[in-house]
Amino acid sequence: MIRVEQLHKHFHGVEVLKGIDLSVQKGTTTVIIGPSGSGKTTLLRCLNLLEIPSQGKLTLANTSISFTRKSKVSYSDLMSIRKQTGMVFQNYNLFPHLTAIENVMEGQVIVQKRTKSDARSLSLQLLDKVGLRDRADSYPHELSGGQQQRVGIARAMALHPQVLLFDEPTSALDPELVGDVLQVMKDLSAEGMTMVIVTHEMGFAREVADQVVFMDQGIVLEKGTPDQVFELSNNERTMQFLRKIQ
Ligand code: ATP
Repeated sequence: MIRVEQLHKHFHGVEVLKGIDLSVQKGTTTVIIGPSGSGKTTLLRCLNLLEIPSQGKLTLANTSISFTRKSKVSYSDLMSIRKQTGMVFQNYNLFPHLTAIENVMEGQVIVQKRTKSDARSLSLQLLDKVGLRDRADSYPHELSGGQQQRVGIARAMALHPQVLLFDEPTSALDPELVGDVLQVMKDLSAEGMTMVIVTHEMGFAREVADQVVFMDQGIVLEKGTPDQVFELSNNERTMQFLRKIQ
């Protein structure tokens, strides 16, 4: 579903991703872990071209793009990748002036040109799925952080992406609100949604991930099953990180 080959990203001459290789199979959950500043968010944002890689190759479903420092990404490639990916942000990024259901409907009506009544009925189904049907008419400021994030997940799913990308979806939440959001993500994983998740929730990674990717200083230091990375790793940097975080 996703293949990343020798991906590099520079910001103002500083190399933040230093040649990333990664594959994500359809229907699997990949969790990216690693210390602060290791490039996890940048890698995730490169997957939907919120950041344009400086070099390397990205293949997502049927779209394949090679990046060089000189060439520009074409509009059609950009739109193709964006259409196939849904993004869930750390700070939810809901429109504050729209209700929960209007937030979920917005992209369907504006981008996908669905009728309002079709968009409304799909949005209600999705809000039901994340346990918020009864809060459909609430505004973001009337919802807890966990509820807002679940609306964010429903909104990302509304465009039927091939892949859902999550950027630290629970790190802005009070601890007691984390569980409900993780449960929605577990359900999606069990249903076979393809997901790539940057998180510090190691319990979730152990339980749900098919693949764990450990990044350090802009490279993938290790990747494998949760057992391979959490239990069997003998890489000193990985062990040091895991000791600190657990
Ligand atoms: P954290 O766990 O703290 O969120 P991370 O592993 O997700 O960290 P990134 O956010 O990808 O790391 O950042 C990697 C490096 O790239 C950092 O040094 C950061 O300062 C730098 N960086 C990220 N985005 C930009 C940007 N838009 N402009 C300049 N530098 C950036």
